[in-house]
Amino acid sequence: MAVTQLNYPVDGSKITIKDNQLIVPDNPILGYIKGDGIGPDIMHACLRIWDAAIKKAYDGQRKIHWMELFMGEAAAEKYNGNIFPDETRNALQELIVSIKGPLTTPVGGGFRSLNVTLRQELDLYACVRPVRYYEGVPSPLCHPELIDVVIFRENTEDVYAGIEYQSGSPEMRKVEKFLKEEMGATFFDDAGLGIKPISPFGSKRLVRKAIQYAIKNKRESVTLVHKGNIMKYTEGAFRNWGYEVAREEFGDYTITEEELYSQYGGKQPEGKIVIKDRIADIIFQLMLLRPNEFDVIATMNLNGDYLSDAIAAEVGGMGIAPGANIGDHVAVFEATHGTAPKYANLDKVNPGSLLFSGVDMLEYMGWIRAADLITLAYPKVIAKKIVTYDFARQMTGAKEVSTSGFADELISEIEKGIDLSALRKERKAAIEQERNDL
Ligand code: NAD
Repeated sequence: MAVTQLNYPVDGSKITIKDNQLIVPDNPILGYIKGDGIGPDIMHACLRIWDAAIKKAYDGQRKIHWMELFMGEAAAEKYNGNIFPDETRNALQELIVSIKGPLTTPVGGGFRSLNVTLRQELDLYACVRPVRYYEGVPSPLCHPELIDVVIFRENTEDVYAGIEYQSGSPEMRKVEKFLKEEMGATFFDDAGLGIKPISPFGSKRLVRKAIQYAIKNKRESVTLVHKGNIMKYTEGAFRNWGYEVAREEFGDYTITEEELYSQYGGKQPEGKIVIKDRIADIIFQLMLLRPNEFDVIATMNLNGDYLSDAIAAEVGGMGIAPGANIGDHVAVFEATHGTAPKYANLDKVNPGSLLFSGVDMLEYMGWIRAADLITLAYPKVIAKKIVTYDFARQMTGAKEVSTSGFADELISEIEKGIDLSALRKERKAAIEQERNDL
């Protein structure tokens, strides 16, 4: 395929995979898609912040060579109306790690969400949403600092599979007839019908990824969230397949919650991750009342959709919630909010969601020092009450700044340098203290 609009940076090298691991050079080429609406504003700000943090963390020895890719409205302009060009898709696959701003999804029939298309075409089967609290960010909870979870939401199955039949359509009539006459199902006439496929393959690869993450990041537990008490052969099966993966593939690293109490007297053995499950409706309560009992969460598409937004709201809302869609290796990190068209090109909105998606991206690449620099510099800016409009209206005495103004403040904190080890210890101790107090 002839490359027509993309410029591969000449000084950069591609990330590769060896023995199932990412090999990240010091000069990796990473793809970025500005996105539509507020996308360019937040992307410009974040590129400056990530670059500054990397430069500071590695004394200029490491540098990302950014390569712009096009999707959405920007692609339509360059590729004759094509909003998801083949060469963008191929580059996302080839570069392995990329980051994107939000993309417009026109409302109405005949147009599948670009984000859904992206996930399906690259088989990015896990939507990974870490939710943690940053000191000073306005939150509706008394103890938002107790929240530190990573949600793995299955991206390809469930009622999102798009198998739906409109009430009264010939297709719906056919399925209705089959279900009523051959399967003995009973439901009201003319009901629109949707299918909820949940497979062992889809469930197991998602839970596998969540457990692998938990092991790599020394997390305490993986909770399977499901509504298996009602939907036994879909949600209940997800739960069972989840336990099966844990037992069969990670037996040395995991114990079940039941074993924790029956064999270990409730005391978690060193190096073991507890696999447990919770019913979907209860988890919403628990994440408000006892959030520190949860760590990594693995769940199906629809539950994950609701849950990740709800938990994000507990620590400050969508404006700063990061996310990523990840396949076996290929990962596209993204802002989780939309294009907020009324704020487009006003240099006004909060860059936090994209910023922290970039932090997760740096962690995914193993560039932890750079990621930590941003994570630790951020609360220092918030503590000074220097914030964008969305936070300013929730704080008293805030100094409202623009998107780029916020980036300037954060970069200046990053450039001052931070004693990472002292701050990390302090943060960990504070969390431990809170947990003990509770
Ligand atoms: P939205 O997230 O774009 O905006 C809703 C409101 O949230 C905004 O009006 C604004 O008040 C606030 N907001 C959003 N991002 C913010 C930020 N960074 N800082 C401060 N405030 C922020 O949701 P919407 O209006 O429902 O959707 C607009 C478009 O975005 C639609 O076309 C939709 O399909 C698309 N969308 C894209 C993605 C994605 O690409 N991942 C996700 C959701 C929505």
